[in-house]
Amino acid sequence: MNRVRCLVLNAALGPLDYRVPEGMEVTAGSVVAAPLGPRTILAIVWDPERLPGADVPAEKLRPLREVMPVRPLTAPLRRLIEWTADYYCAPLAAVARMALSSGGALKGPAITVEYRLSGGTPERMTPQRQQAIEALEGEQATIRELSGLAGVSEGVLRGLVNQGVLEPVEVDIDRPYSLARADHTVVDLSPAQQEAAALFQDAVKEGGFTPFLLDGVTGSGKTETYFEPVAEALGLGRQVLVLLPEIALTEAFLKRFEDRFGAPPVVWHSSLKSTERRRAWRAVAAGTAQVVVGARSALFLPFAKLGLIVVDEAHEISFKQDDGVRYNARDVAVMRAAFEKLPVILASATPALESLAMAEAGTYRKVDLPSRFGGAELPSIATIDLTREKPGRGAWLAEPLVGAIEERLDRGEQSLLFLNRRGYAPLTLCRNCGFRFQCPNCSAWLVEHRFSGRLACHHCGHETRPPEACPECGETDCLVACGPGVERIADEVAERLPDARVFVATSDTLNSPGRAAEFVAQVESGAVDVIVGTQLVTKGFHFPELTLVGVVDADLGLEGGDLRAAERTYQQIAQVAGRAGRGQKPGEVLIQTRHPDAPVIAALADGDRDAFYEAETEARRMAGAPPFGRWAAIIVSSEEESDARDAAHRIGRARPEDQDIAIYGPAPAPLSLLRGRYRFRLLIHARRSVQLQDIIRAWLGKLDHPAGVRVGVDIDPYSFV
Ligand code: ADP
Ligand code: ZN
Repeated sequence: MNRVRCLVLNAALGPLDYRVPEGMEVTAGSVVAAPLGPRTILAIVWDPERLPGADVPAEKLRPLREVMPVRPLTAPLRRLIEWTADYYCAPLAAVARMALSSGGALKGPAITVEYRLSGGTPERMTPQRQQAIEALEGEQATIRELSGLAGVSEGVLRGLVNQGVLEPVEVDIDRPYSLARADHTVVDLSPAQQEAAALFQDAVKEGGFTPFLLDGVTGSGKTETYFEPVAEALGLGRQVLVLLPEIALTEAFLKRFEDRFGAPPVVWHSSLKSTERRRAWRAVAAGTAQVVVGARSALFLPFAKLGLIVVDEAHEISFKQDDGVRYNARDVAVMRAAFEKLPVILASATPALESLAMAEAGTYRKVDLPSRFGGAELPSIATIDLTREKPGRGAWLAEPLVGAIEERLDRGEQSLLFLNRRGYAPLTLCRNCGFRFQCPNCSAWLVEHRFSGRLACHHCGHETRPPEACPECGETDCLVACGPGVERIADEVAERLPDARVFVATSDTLNSPGRAAEFVAQVESGAVDVIVGTQLVTKGFHFPELTLVGVVDADLGLEGGDLRAAERTYQQIAQVAGRAGRGQKPGEVLIQTRHPDAPVIAALADGDRDAFYEAETEARRMAGAPPFGRWAAIIVSSEEESDARDAAHRIGRARPEDQDIAIYGPAPAPLSLLRGRYRFRLLIHARRSVQLQDIIRAWLGKLDHPAGVRVGVDIDPYSFV
């Protein structure tokens, strides 16, 4: 039969049938170019029985144009794409597009040209040329990417090419990666690590779907332990995928990996250069990329012979994608392992309640590392009651905390202050008229960043210079910063302890692998006394001289639109506490709070994890919250407020009648304006047994909305903003 059903990569279109022309060979999974009207679109040949389509008569079928020179997507990956689309109520095409995430890679092998500085100087220096030359030191990329990096136009760079200041370099897309070797170094594992590693290794050897929950305290050596099954897979010639929650963590991981295996792994994340993307994608598909470490999008890469998946810091909410296809990479990773019939290891010191419940139910196999490696003790934890130990006006650090930092300074040890707020102050207002600086595109305050001299929106990236005068009343010198951000805490430390060398560590300052590496080197060499950082520094880092962790405001996480606020607070503080005392010297953690008796804070101070999980489990059971019940959200947005509101109400009126589900809303979302779009939300709360996705599909499927209205479904939502 020379007729095929295709999934075309356009979410607005259904499946389409095509004719396979004489001499063309395709199978299920083949990536093809197909005609659509006058255009050519990308499509994937799909299993017809799994993708019902219209029965177009054979003589009306148009022929496929071309088969792309890449391997067909494997059946397990096609099943994963189907499952993800089905479970998260997302268009199949949108999920499939994540698997074909490097358009260039589909064109086949190639030599491309990149440019780099030659060391020469232009005949005439202009400010723009100067800027480009300074910015492009050590960079090599296409003209377009270099233009983005340097912040100058492509025309300016072409001028520099003509003058020989930028020189072309030919790049072979398929040049091989250096080989990692299972036995590059041998690590002595502790008995507990050995026992865990042996379980994982056996699972890799035997193959078959085995989900593990590796539950190990901070500093127990989870990485060393899961490196053993990675070695096993390497020895068997199978590929490994390691998912990390944050690109910033990659640098430290790469170093450890290279020490252990003699070559760095292949990196995958959304800000890779196009040529690197293309190279990585092709090597993954060819089976020559041995180990891929990546952000959540690596999950849909077309591995040829995957043997193991690891999700490190598996509890992290950054595995949850909150726009486009709203999926949780942790859960999709488990599904990928199920379809590929592989072991998957979820590693965490503070597993999500859902993961623990799966372990308790016997679905996941739980493996414990209950103590720190090398006999290091877990830090002692105490609270500072801010209602009694009030910091002075305009200050945020209570005396006992300042005293503790001072002690570390005297002893030549390091301290880390944790506050999950970038910038200097979260709100700027006019003392004279009360005007508050708000983002024009979002219902959010602009955050002052003193280092860069900007007011910035953390949602859409809008930036502006702080004006001399209030834009409302025209008064000068009347703008005041409200509340603390990390930069302000750093100022406070500098004021109180003028000798301290302070480093502010956030995504603003550690925004490239180079800068992250520099930060690590500075702390390791003892050139930093106090780190002030956001959640970015709460995990992955191992600084033996760091003996004090101060949590500036433990109550912060308990506010806001997070459905799992208590759990997140627990995880975040336990995680940052885990940075203290990882070497020979004991660690101390001081938690500033106005609610020392809140169950989550008390459990942290008592070091009683079980008590926290029990209390939280009970609270969730009472509320019918996950894992005891199910949640979903429907988010309706449009650039026209009335369109969004009308659509949300139309959806609300069409709500299904079902005793097992409760529907709340529609209501304006807490972030009612985001990136120029007005947003309304509905929340659905259901019993566990309910086929929620079927209900939502049937409900939304029968409604039409005007152009410009987007209706998104968020299954198992994390955030409620
Ligand atoms: P976790 O991820 O569980 O917090 P890490 O994997 O970062 O812990 O390990 C903590 C520290 O202990 C790291 O510096 C690591 O290199 C070291 N370590 C752990 N296990 C071993 C081992 N078997 N041999 C040598 N060093 C180890
Ligand atoms: Zn904004």
